Amino acid sequence: MSRRPEIAIIGAGAAGCFCGAVLAERGTDAGITVFEAGRRPLAKVAVTGGGRCNLTNSFRGISTQKAYPRGARLMKRLLAGFSNTDACDWFTAHGVDLVLQDDECVFPKSQDAMQIVGTLLSCLRRGGVSVETEAPVRSIEPLPYGGFILHFEGRPSFRADAVVVTIGGLSSARMQELFQGLDIELVKPVPSLFTIKTDSPVTGLAGTVVKDASISLQGTKLSAEGPLLITDWGFSGPAVLKLSSHGARVLSENGYKGTVAVNWMHGSSEQDIRSWIERQSVASPERQISALHPEKLSSRLWKFILDKASIKENTKFAQLSSRQTGRLCSALLSDCYPVTGRARFKEEFVTCGGVALGEVFPASLESRRYAGLYFAGEVLDIDAITGGFNLQAAWTTGFTVAGSIGNKLNNK
Ligand SMILES: Cc1cc2nc3c(=O)[nH]c(=O)nc-3n(C[C@H](O)[C@H](O)[C@H](O)COP(=O)(O)OP(=O)(O)OC[C@H]3O[C@@H](n4cnc5c(N)ncnc54)[C@H](O)[C@@H]3O)c2cc1C
Repeated sequence: MSRRPEIAIIGAGAAGCFCGAVLAERGTDAGITVFEAGRRPLAKVAVTGGGRCNLTNSFRGISTQKAYPRGARLMKRLLAGFSNTDACDWFTAHGVDLVLQDDECVFPKSQDAMQIVGTLLSCLRRGGVSVETEAPVRSIEPLPYGGFILHFEGRPSFRADAVVVTIGGLSSARMQELFQGLDIELVKPVPSLFTIKTDSPVTGLAGTVVKDASISLQGTKLSAEGPLLITDWGFSGPAVLKLSSHGARVLSENGYKGTVAVNWMHGSSEQDIRSWIERQSVASPERQISALHPEKLSSRLWKFILDKASIKENTKFAQLSSRQTGRLCSALLSDCYPVTGRARFKEEFVTCGGVALGEVFPASLESRRYAGLYFAGEVLDIDAITGGFNLQAAWTTGFTVAGSIGNKLNNK
């Protein structure tokens, strides 16, 4: 009598649990076991989106290239097989009502990440998937005639015909250990999605938000736009997180040192600013320059910028020299700050790097070197900006692997 095939999923995170749930729903005779190092499955999903779980995005107004600084090409291909709409349909069909926010982020209507956790876990339970917690896999041993042995510490090893590695970002040395016995190329992991520290009096304006600014990393072509928040350590907000994501590798290589230039008047040209100054000097020639600020800047930030441009607050508009006007334009359009380090964004960051994408077949995410070994989620060298794109990558890659394994089993 032939033995039933065994599928092992390493890591009960978003990608692993979704992959297990989809596989189970396809209906398979194979045994499916998810091994999780931690005490609870889906612990990270439970805290995503500040406990509300931003599970995907409408992708309106953003290209895959912009959303995924690493892995965009592969994601574009895989999203054609399981898109954001498919993810929304899947969760809706499983009883999760969703809401699309004005910023294009999708959340459960309940605003509770635990609903996503509960939905995935009941799916696994219904499908007979076994979830073993406190079971960190230490190594994966490929067998000469196919299949693998998973080794643990303090528990018996496990023989699997197919193994799905969904261990998340490869940040800790422990996680990298798992790859030691395997000939798999890893792209050096570095953090992404962080805020920027600067040593400048601008931090005295902590709490100030400029809704539509842009920020660029000098010496590179990297720039990002959107709301920018001044914090007591430097800069944060969507524009900065996007820049940190696109610049994750170069900033890491430079030891988180460099220079950023802030354009406080994103969308306005130097000519627009000069015309505005001219209009003020005709309409209110006697008015002190500090008394009238561009609409998008707060009075405090305007005074700070005047000071940076060495313009006294009591200078009248009509008295501005052309040099002063030039300095003011530069301070508004390209205001430089030294980068002195990075800080986490509210505990949230993802890892850039991981299993090199050349290691897997793009259609199946199966290893090119080891038949039956698959990768999904953040362990792959795929990561995104904030906005639900990272979880979407977990759903899409998890679904892809489930499909690949399902097809293989059906063809046997
Ligand atoms: C605080 C926070 C908030 C976030 N919010 C959002 C958000 O709202 N929207 C969004 O799109 N993204 C968000 N992200 C990113 C998103 O959570 C991740 O990209 C996503 O969880 C990756 O899924 P994954 O399954 O690849 O990895 P994970 O969810 O990290 O799961 C990996 C699992 O593998 C386990 N594991 C590791 N090594 C082993 C081993 N050797 N043996 C067994 N198990 C192992 C880990 O314990 C873990 O449970 C957030 C991240 C954080 C940290």
